[in-house]
Amino acid sequence: MSNPRIEVDLSKIRHNTQTAVQALHARGISVTAVTKAVCGHPAIAQAMLDGGATGLAESRLSNVKRLRKAGQLCPITLIRTPMLSQVDEVVQVCDASYNTEIAVITALATAAIRHDCVHNVILMVEMGDNREGIMPADLGAMAQRVVDLPGVALKGIGANFACLTGVAPDAAAMEALSSLTSEVEGQCGPFLQTVSGGNSANLPWAFSGNPTGRVNDLRLGEAILLGVDPVSGGRINGMHTDAFSLVAEVIEANNRSVPLFQSSVALRLLAPRDDEPTRLILALGHQDTDILGLLMPVGTMLIGATSDHLVIGTTQATMSVGSEVRFQMTYSALMRAMAAPDIKISMLHDRQIPRGRNADEPRKHLEIV
Ligand SMILES: *Cc1c(COP(=O)(O)O)cnc(C)c1O
Repeated sequence: MSNPRIEVDLSKIRHNTQTAVQALHARGISVTAVTKAVCGHPAIAQAMLDGGATGLAESRLSNVKRLRKAGQLCPITLIRTPMLSQVDEVVQVCDASYNTEIAVITALATAAIRHDCVHNVILMVEMGDNREGIMPADLGAMAQRVVDLPGVALKGIGANFACLTGVAPDAAAMEALSSLTSEVEGQCGPFLQTVSGGNSANLPWAFSGNPTGRVNDLRLGEAILLGVDPVSGGRINGMHTDAFSLVAEVIEANNRSVPLFQSSVALRLLAPRDDEPTRLILALGHQDTDILGLLMPVGTMLIGATSDHLVIGTTQATMSVGSEVRFQMTYSALMRAMAAPDIKISMLHDRQIPRGRNADEPRKHLEIV
């Protein structure tokens, strides 16, 4: 096995997705699986679909193209507003996109007509996270402009919570989103098929027993990949938190006594003592992941890291050069590690013939990739 590597247990991702899908189904909400943290990895995306997600959502067009290239035919929504410079590709590989800017929507419409298709638009509403979104007061007018534009169809509205500000949505905010849905329908006509209520931070609301109103979709990444509620950091009942492990290899193991003139607090941990930990260097660094997002295994402690070296202390006498150390990761560590060119990704419990990848089917999405 090559190191460093990420081991991905696809059966745990299928299970986590299934757990969310079943619980939300009872509340009239479907799951759109967000693949950005795994860079649109095709096998991981397929595991989420196998767990019952109705479609995929991505923030980067490059990841959508990766999925299409692997033969993924399911609905894919771009959840970061498209760049003007990418609209032609967006209408070819994405079934829908989240939008906040009329200039982009107009360009998408023109591109869709050029490519002889209709692109679905979901308007993102600002509900308090202060990241992206149209102000609620402006939503009706914007929706009307989308309805009037040939080449695009108004598919729904969406909101995002707890990303920039970390504030989880409350029942009042979710009710407001439902009311906006009906208002927009009253103002400009079409039934809004999708009302996407938010991300993993919405799960406590969705499970709370509050009425779900018109909200019929959530976009879940962290919850089903890591089994964690992003706001509390706690494990979600019934989910696995160890679908991903980052494995790194020891390249130096020694018991050097650190000279006392070293002033660093971390280094003082290594001043000679009876239970002095062994100091290990692992071939992993800031260039590979968010080091502070690595959960230290029992009996080890983080001493420090540089671009390519991770220094830890361990009380486990069995560790030597060539040993492997296994870490669980936070979302931030996971997304950086998944994107790191030197980290190999190895799949456990892959399915032999994934659904939705029929090689004989015509693939309209594959033309440009
Ligand atoms: C990243 C993202 C999500 C998924 O967030 P998680 O916390 O991973 O569930 C959903 N919606 C949008 C718009 C996003 O950018």
